[in-house]
Amino acid sequence: MAGRKDFDLFRVSEEHDMLRESVRALAEAKIAPFAAEVDEQSRFPQEALDALTANDLHAVHVPEEYGGAGADALATVIVIEEVARVCASSSLIPAVNKLGSMPVMLAGSEDLKRRYLGAVARGDGMFSYCLSEPEAGSDAAAMKTRAVRDGDSWVLDGVKRWITNAGVSEFYTVMAVTDPEKRSKGISAFVVEKSDEGVSFGAPEKKLGIKGSPTREVYLDNVRIPADRIIGEEGTGFATAMKTLDHTRVTIAAQALGIAQGALDYAKGYVRERKQFGKPIADFQGIQFMLADMAMKLEAARQLTYAAAAKSERGDADLTFHGAAAKCFASDAAMEITVDAVQLLGGYGYTRDYPLERMMRDAKITQIYEGTNQVQRIVMARNLPK
Ligand SMILES: Cc1cc2nc3c(=O)[nH]c(=O)nc-3n(C[C@H](O)[C@H](O)[C@H](O)COP(=O)(O)OP(=O)(O)OC[C@H]3O[C@@H](n4cnc5c(N)ncnc54)[C@H](O)[C@@H]3O)c2cc1C
Repeated sequence: MAGRKDFDLFRVSEEHDMLRESVRALAEAKIAPFAAEVDEQSRFPQEALDALTANDLHAVHVPEEYGGAGADALATVIVIEEVARVCASSSLIPAVNKLGSMPVMLAGSEDLKRRYLGAVARGDGMFSYCLSEPEAGSDAAAMKTRAVRDGDSWVLDGVKRWITNAGVSEFYTVMAVTDPEKRSKGISAFVVEKSDEGVSFGAPEKKLGIKGSPTREVYLDNVRIPADRIIGEEGTGFATAMKTLDHTRVTIAAQALGIAQGALDYAKGYVRERKQFGKPIADFQGIQFMLADMAMKLEAARQLTYAAAAKSERGDADLTFHGAAAKCFASDAAMEITVDAVQLLGGYGYTRDYPLERMMRDAKITQIYEGTNQVQRIVMARNLPK
């Protein structure tokens, strides 16, 4: 696994290239064959979880000292990219394991790190991230979920909405209000377990895309957890949640890159085979120009994403801008590229007999979650490069 040493901006090492080759081979053999079925049946991609876990690729970001693969941020991007290239739903396994556990990595006590990062690395359970609520989406600090201290426990009450992999994950980072007077500075983060009494889940959302990734509400009904499950100091949860997103928006950019690469690869092959007017449609300049634009946008998005991954790895001060820029640019590019890829297949692209309409539907979510692209622009505007 590409490790944390020798990390240069724009430098993709031989180790990273080898990692890409091996993840691509695994994804094509073990994940791609189920991608259409997972989408069609809106079912969790268990085959992908099994294959990723067996190859230690389900949570590559966990440092070696906690039993993980110790992948750097770029290696994590490459894993997510290659899985998303064949199945966007499955790419949410490594991506959301990072999202859910990042608050523990950034701010958790040594004991929480050992317990929960170790468990995720061993494959004992996945980790989800619970920030959004029915009335608190873009304005996440308007959340209402409460956590009240009671002796040696915290008691949590509230509803979290849109939680990726809810019900399948064993572990949940939950942001909750501990001091309603202080708005974002009165929010704290906690680790909640699926088995904690009072935790339950809503019906799976019926979505446009990423249908294999369950999205459900998480209900917290008087959930009593030990006091040591707080992540960091009381009142620091919102800051930790935002810092987490600085890092993990890079992984959503990676997901977008993967979806777009999958669509471009498929369309490239198709136009060489499909004949109209007596020749392959790839011979027409109108088609060649579309492919050139698609590849150009994808490469620009990739460079921005890899540069942001380097900043994430180093913890650079300007990561906030670059994480938002990578996510926003790559997801917009993925949307354009997948729409164009459908177009290149003509009527066939519009059917479920080909994977492109799925890729187009899957691409759309990357413009919405971990903050909509309008929100990314707000974040960038507040953190413009000096
Ligand atoms: C499939 C899926 C999975 C998700 N997974 C998770 C998860 O695992 N954990 C989690 O916590 N959340 C998750 N989310 C929630 C996601 O992050 C939110 O949906 C997103 O942040 C937007 O919030 P909202 O849906 O309430 O939209 P709203 O905030 O109501 O926004 C509606 C529209 O208004 C725009 N808007 C809002 N405010 C502004 C503004 N100030 N300026 C300009 N435009 C604005 C938005 O961009 C959007 O276009 C998921 C969502 C989906 C759909």
